[in-house]
Amino acid sequence: MNVSDSQRTASALEKLGYTSIERAEQADVIVLNTCVVRQSAEDRALGRLYSLRKLKEKNPGLVINLMGCLVGYKDNHPLQEKLPFVDVFSPPSDPTPLLQYLQRKNDQEVFQQDKLKMNAYLDGELPLPENEIGKTFSAHIPVVYGCSFACTYCIIPYRRGSEQSRPMEDILSEAASLANQGVREITLLGQIVDRYGLDLPGKPDLPLLLNELHRINGLERIRFLTSHPNWMTPELIDTVSKLPKVCEHIEVPTQAGNNEVLRRMKRGYTAEDYRQLVQLLRDRIEGVSIATDIIVGFPGETEAQFMDTYNLMEELQMDVAHLARYSTRPGTVAARHYVDDVSEQEKMRRFRMLENLQAEISTRIHQRMLHQTVEVLIDEKHKMQWKGRTRTNKLVFINSEENLLGKIVSSRIIRTGTWSMRGELI
Ligand code: SF4
Repeated sequence: MNVSDSQRTASALEKLGYTSIERAEQADVIVLNTCVVRQSAEDRALGRLYSLRKLKEKNPGLVINLMGCLVGYKDNHPLQEKLPFVDVFSPPSDPTPLLQYLQRKNDQEVFQQDKLKMNAYLDGELPLPENEIGKTFSAHIPVVYGCSFACTYCIIPYRRGSEQSRPMEDILSEAASLANQGVREITLLGQIVDRYGLDLPGKPDLPLLLNELHRINGLERIRFLTSHPNWMTPELIDTVSKLPKVCEHIEVPTQAGNNEVLRRMKRGYTAEDYRQLVQLLRDRIEGVSIATDIIVGFPGETEAQFMDTYNLMEELQMDVAHLARYSTRPGTVAARHYVDDVSEQEKMRRFRMLENLQAEISTRIHQRMLHQTVEVLIDEKHKMQWKGRTRTNKLVFINSEENLLGKIVSSRIIRTGTWSMRGELI
């Protein structure tokens, strides 16, 4: 969601005539988009922010915009007092405060020079500097903002507000315009993306949205994330299996493999429900790849409860597992009612155990793909190699003299590793 928010802010700035640059030292405007889902993310955001203060001291004209969950929707006066060098505070997903601020600054002619340059670009008197225009072939589209659930560890509903779906026409016109600009792959985003439309008049749903998006010419791949086990309906699963453009790639977190831990997390399903869902996905969607999220060290998690998670992961052999060590987020139910009683050392040990297990599983899954032919969408040149992803979201590097950027190519896998594979062009 943050990547998408950043992309949208960048494109709003581009419309004002700004272009992206490589180094913060050269910037006129810096947007720091923040995440507070874990304490470590919050610490990193603040650390980065304080390092930007030095730039502001050297260049007082620099505009610093703090955005995202660190700001939240609440009154942010305490932050303003604490961070006087920040010019603009924006809530998640909303670049408006920054755009209004820049507009005011423009009006005051403080940015007169930039404005002249910007107008020259817009009037066609100056060519846009080509190497500074980013082209993207894969884009994220938020379809549901916020979340109305209250998983006890989670801070997101408090910072991103309650669940709100975007009208279907907005999404379709955004997707069509992205396709016109050359985007080949879109990923629909929502904290529980499967709940799309349930809050809208007429209750359009995700299967309907996928069907409509499927008709857009130029779009080749459609993904969606993140799913919730309770909202992944058989109808949605069948839609994925039926529509060729919808990729066989599902992100559906389990978070824990022990029912007591799941109950205290307030996830609303059991390990058995999750196991059945994975089976259903594998039965109905050919070649599906499934990613999960796991939190280790939730308050009160015993060794035996952790081993239930470990054993579930070993049994289910997921393609990817995003792992996290529990950290208390102030304001959440867990922060108010549970004691964070698993030591950091023990959390790390459990994390490493799962990390090693998943590395073995991913290595084996990749090995099975050796010599297979896969379809890869190339989105970047990385250290002299083309980098892209398969429909199942696996990373493939390809050597070729040809310019493959933005192309969907057939590639035979010639080497496999734990996190990526190497392919040759067919
Ligand atoms: S479903 Fe739970 S974990 Fe996901 S965003 Fe909502 S509250 Fe957080």
